[in-house]
Amino acid sequence: MTEQAAGPGFATLAIHAGAPADPALGAGTTQIDQPAGGVYEDIEQAAALFGLEGFGNDFSRSFNPTNATLEERIATLEGGTAALAVASGRAAQFLAFHMLLQAGDELIAGGHRYGGQMHQIDQAYKTFGWNVRWADPVNLESYQRALSPQTKAIFVESFPNPGGRIVDIAAVAKIAKEARVPLIVDNTLATPYLLRPFEHGADIIIHSTTKFLGGHDALTGGLIIDGGTFPWQADARFPLLSAPRPDYGGLVFAETFGNFAFATACRILGLNELGPALSPFNAFLILSGLETLALRMQRHSENALRVAEHLAGHAAVSAVNYPGLSNDPAQALAKIYCPRGAGPVLSCRLAGGFEAAATVIARLRLFSSLTEVGDTRSRASHPASTTHRHLSDLEKIDACAGPEMIRLSIGLEDIADIVADLDQALATG
Ligand SMILES: *Cc1c(COP(=O)(O)O)cnc(C)c1O
Repeated sequence: MTEQAAGPGFATLAIHAGAPADPALGAGTTQIDQPAGGVYEDIEQAAALFGLEGFGNDFSRSFNPTNATLEERIATLEGGTAALAVASGRAAQFLAFHMLLQAGDELIAGGHRYGGQMHQIDQAYKTFGWNVRWADPVNLESYQRALSPQTKAIFVESFPNPGGRIVDIAAVAKIAKEARVPLIVDNTLATPYLLRPFEHGADIIIHSTTKFLGGHDALTGGLIIDGGTFPWQADARFPLLSAPRPDYGGLVFAETFGNFAFATACRILGLNELGPALSPFNAFLILSGLETLALRMQRHSENALRVAEHLAGHAAVSAVNYPGLSNDPAQALAKIYCPRGAGPVLSCRLAGGFEAAATVIARLRLFSSLTEVGDTRSRASHPASTTHRHLSDLEKIDACAGPEMIRLSIGLEDIADIVADLDQALATG
């Protein structure tokens, strides 16, 4: 990744973007502004807002200074044209797909075969007639095989669950481009501090801010970021973006809103009509989390690398998946995609199989046993019996979630305490 040649660096933008110093607010430039509705200056202004001739507080509950600051900040950090804040990561996915898929259309999903995500994609989406074809996130041929004339988008996680792997985003972007469909990247586990998918050809980015962006296990939220790159105009396969809207006087989103048409359509035709708005209070908490994102992701990655190195040399561990390790198969991809660090999440196989995995999870004290990842605390989980339990035995192994596998999300505690807890849990007898 190249540093910005001109202009402020990442840590500076994570604190200041979208919130210039404001004498009226004092030093802390983020305020919580929680209106449920806006007051119109006059009926002409109200009519203009409802006709999309201007932006302001209308029915969507999404126009308020706190959410707007968050949207501008994340668009800046990811290098996109515009963003939309919504109630959760799943809401962000849902609204993004709602813009692209109609009944009978297909989505290719790489990864995401876990827990609620799988139910959302495989069950709930089916009720809309959206069909999902699964791809192995790290096997490029599997995306090619999943393509069909009905494909409307490819959706991947930059660091696929259950952790310790990296998707070759540029290669998947090439496949998406040839198929003329947008590539949507879920960048939740990497965050823009470690990896910036737009620089590698992604068209849209999704976040669950519930994880590292908020960072403190204190909120639920989601973001959609528009890369401004996909040519929606005149493409009849994406009518919500390319066809005239009689309800807005014949307006065509792709024409009127140009390189931020996708974010705007998600706001007006998605959030406004379906309702999963982000509370401004949660936007405030996410903004507070973002201020320390660079520091936290550095330390998370340093701690995770130390843990990965320690476990790789431990007799009770038969294998460690962590792209930051010099002999990991994903190390070459890590050098390209995340030179600042390979992130907080790793997975490892225990030599003693399922029994050993269950024992370790039960014995850990500092680590909490939790399927959640992404905050200051260290977490351990056993995917085969939790997030991935609905898969067949073979599918579990394919998804890197075999019975002997545990997943660790390494927190910000002192590294000596983290390692000591793992050692006591791994000790036999
Ligand atoms: C947690 C998570 C989600 C879902 O986000 P919610 O905010 O819980 O709805 C989506 N993608 C990834 C990678 C996640 O870790």
